[in-house]
Amino acid sequence: MIDFSLDSKQLEIVEKYKDFADRYMRPNARKYDQLAQFPWEIVKAAYNENMMNGPMSAEYGGSGHNIFNSALASEELGAGCVGIGICMDANTLALTPLYIGASDEQKKRLFGEIIEEKGVAAYALTEPNAGSDVAGIQSTAIRNGDKYILNGHKRFITNGSVSTFITVFALTNPEKGARSLTAFVVPTKSPGVEIVADMEKMGQRASIQTEFKFHDVEVPVENRIGNDGQGFLLAMKTFERTRTGVAALSVGNAREAYETSRNWAKKRIQFGKPITVNQGVSFILADMATEIEASRLITWKAAWAYDNKLRTANLLSAMSKLLATDVAMKVTTDAVQVMGGEGYSNDYLVEKMMRDAKLCQIYEGTNQIQRLVIGKGILK
Ligand SMILES: Cc1cc2nc3c(=O)[nH]c(=O)nc-3n(C[C@H](O)[C@H](O)[C@H](O)COP(=O)(O)OP(=O)(O)OC[C@H]3O[C@@H](n4cnc5c(N)ncnc54)[C@H](O)[C@@H]3O)c2cc1C
Repeated sequence: MIDFSLDSKQLEIVEKYKDFADRYMRPNARKYDQLAQFPWEIVKAAYNENMMNGPMSAEYGGSGHNIFNSALASEELGAGCVGIGICMDANTLALTPLYIGASDEQKKRLFGEIIEEKGVAAYALTEPNAGSDVAGIQSTAIRNGDKYILNGHKRFITNGSVSTFITVFALTNPEKGARSLTAFVVPTKSPGVEIVADMEKMGQRASIQTEFKFHDVEVPVENRIGNDGQGFLLAMKTFERTRTGVAALSVGNAREAYETSRNWAKKRIQFGKPITVNQGVSFILADMATEIEASRLITWKAAWAYDNKLRTANLLSAMSKLLATDVAMKVTTDAVQVMGGEGYSNDYLVEKMMRDAKLCQIYEGTNQIQRLVIGKGILK
């Protein structure tokens, strides 16, 4: 039996995150966009209200949400401000390889550090020569007794320079290439970790991205996640779990842009009538509403498939990321169009939502890469 209604616990989650977005995110979205500053006060507030590390169990500082309930939370964060929301969700991204692959001792120690500090972690896969092609990673971590010596170059790392630690992917045996890819937890203050620069960018400006260089950084063997050579699988399993989060953030962003432009258009009088009496405007709004509904449904289905350990989970998570982020790009652009000059101005947030939407088509695998995943899934 299919039932699309949310139960009382799920409605509570939606209300809780909506209320958080109303109190902390909407009032500060423009400020952090303009300052391009990490929103520490909001992240600390999220910790105080037990809203960080949502999909982790309570013993690791999380709320114990399954992926479906995390998607409900992320939709509200995306509606509040994608830039601030991703500061929280990128922390989840960085902790997911630990959640999936670390030993109990590592989880207690490393989650303990993050929670104690009310800090954030960063996930470092991308390199100058390895973006879409993860197998092209060149950073190395060569074993020397009870340590690994890490050298390499990472860029576009969300939460990077403000993080407590970085989950870094590097080769333990360059001759074996990606078959030796391994994940390590590296404290950001470790000797040899160079913060080259934070990125200047178009949207999601509350979130920061850092370029790092690693120079002979000593990483104790206790900070290796899983075994040597398990990094590629861990990275892919991580995305399978987190891509519905990007989809849900995008559904929220699109919903907020749609509602803002619809409410504005109902009041805007031109030619003596509200502009919504023109089908040229109401049809745009009709398409926006329909596409948002479709992207929410595929996001829910993908999250449900993950929670139920279905074999289609990976395929659906790629489909949800592809559809919801493309829809958010289209809907936010249409919201600006519906609102004319006002939409383009800084008096409203729809122009920011449009800039924010673009990035979701790029990170956690571009939408071309999602199509590759989907193509493989449907043609095998
Ligand atoms: C703001 C921001 C935040 C990010 N955060 C993180 C983070 O926290 N951690 C992290 O590790 N990375 C992060 N990234 C990196 C992000 O995941 C990569 O930018 C993305 O995977 C694309 O890699 P690239 O930029 O090197 O583009 P490229 O791989 O060079 O791709 C360029 C273009 O070619 C297309 N393309 C490439 N290969 C193919 C193919 N085989 N078929 C069809 N099209 C193809 C791509 O879709 C894209 O359109 C972030 C990036 C940005 C911009």
